[in-house]
Amino acid sequence: MNQSIRKLTEISIKWKLTLWSACLMILLFFSFNVIQYFFIHHWLINQEKEAIQTKMDEVLAYLNAANHAQNNFDLEGAKDFLDKINQESQMIRIINQNEQVLFTTSEDFPEDNIIPKNVKHAELIELKSDDEPLLLLRSPFKNSDFSGSIEIGHSIEKSDELMKYFLIVMITGGIGAIGLSLLGGRLLSHQLLKPVNNMVDTMRKIKRNGLQERVPIGAHHDEITDLGMMFNDLMDDVERSFNQQKQFIEDASHELKTPLTIIHGHLSLIKRWGKEDPKVLERSIGLSLREVDRLINLVAELLELSKAEEHPADTILHEAINPNEVIDRVLENFKLIHSDFDIRTYQHADEHILIEMPSRYVEQILLIVLDNAVKFSYKDKLIEVKTAVENQFFLIEIKDYGIGIPKQDLPFVLNRFYRVDKARTRKSGGSGLGLSIAKRLVENFGGKVYLESSEEKWTKVTIKLLIKT
Ligand code: ATP
Ligand code: MG
Repeated sequence: MNQSIRKLTEISIKWKLTLWSACLMILLFFSFNVIQYFFIHHWLINQEKEAIQTKMDEVLAYLNAANHAQNNFDLEGAKDFLDKINQESQMIRIINQNEQVLFTTSEDFPEDNIIPKNVKHAELIELKSDDEPLLLLRSPFKNSDFSGSIEIGHSIEKSDELMKYFLIVMITGGIGAIGLSLLGGRLLSHQLLKPVNNMVDTMRKIKRNGLQERVPIGAHHDEITDLGMMFNDLMDDVERSFNQQKQFIEDASHELKTPLTIIHGHLSLIKRWGKEDPKVLERSIGLSLREVDRLINLVAELLELSKAEEHPADTILHEAINPNEVIDRVLENFKLIHSDFDIRTYQHADEHILIEMPSRYVEQILLIVLDNAVKFSYKDKLIEVKTAVENQFFLIEIKDYGIGIPKQDLPFVLNRFYRVDKARTRKSGGSGLGLSIAKRLVENFGGKVYLESSEEKWTKVTIKLLIKT
């Protein structure tokens, strides 16, 4: 029992839809037919009853009229009349008060099985004789020298047969309807579930062939195409982030490989010659240590980047800070370290501006940009820092007059690991992560970073931070 219930709940949606629609159709068809059957049956019997009543009225009217004319009961005259008006499958009898049959006219009617009865009030009964359905109407009749009853019997076999045919038609129709509704339900469910099956197929293909497969979207718009579109969007995101991760791992391993290869080279050198030659030993250890430092920095920066890439929701609702204070603090320290640089500030922004961002992030962003400004300047050691307010943003512009960035590289310098001239930057020890960390941090808090540059002349980095309202 339990197993069969489980089997029922496990059947596919296709079959559920088929069965449900078939059941509904059967129920509708069945109830409609039952109502129709009873209605027609009732109507037919009523017709028969009305017909028998009309006949009785006719007979009584004749007998009354005849009696009036002759002043006594003219049985012979009545016989002629009753013979004439009798029809097929019908009987008319005259019964006296002792319940004896005085006269019968009958045509194809089983009158012998019906016991004559004298009645005081008219009565209409339905009965069966030899399996034949009959209607019998008795009505009292009285005049000066006669008292008895008139009986009219009528077979309703024809109506009954009609109803039987009707029932057969209904049952065959019903069976046909079950078949058709099962077929219809199957077609309907197939049509409805086609997009769902497409989706399942696509998922199978994704499992087999990779993330590039998408659900085909038809021209018609409905809830299921919405679902397909949502699924495709989701897959776009998944594919994009998967590719980003892949790219990141490739870039990171490439970046890690370079210092490791250099260290490996120096260690081999030491193994071969260095033990005897203190000069080689000294030089190789020094260079290896530099590469190890680079590795340490790289790993630290990768950690920073992954922290910066956290979901923005994790970093909301921070205490508001005054960015001007942070800028002052950072520049004071920076000037001490880079005393050879002329750092000029132009603070145009309102003193009391507040932004919602932890101050250590603002410091980090400023240091990343200032570090680049120093690293990529050689002749003109001048850095200008300007602040301004533009709509709902607090702007920090940092401009240096160094080597600049070629136009074709400008769109890419914010990407991870991107360096303009890899050989040139390697000497300055950069790994190409600074600006991408700054960009992530700023964007996580609703801000933006822009870069403008003129090669060999200047570079301007604009940081837009959202002002607290
Ligand atoms: P890291 O900051 O990770 O130590 P990096 O400075 O090379 O390394 P980013 O700060 O991301 O990396 O900068 C990316 C590249 O953009 C740099 O390698 C450099 O080529 C170019 N760049 C950035 N700032 C400037 C600038 N002020 N002047 C000229 N080129 C710049
Ligand atoms: Mg940098």
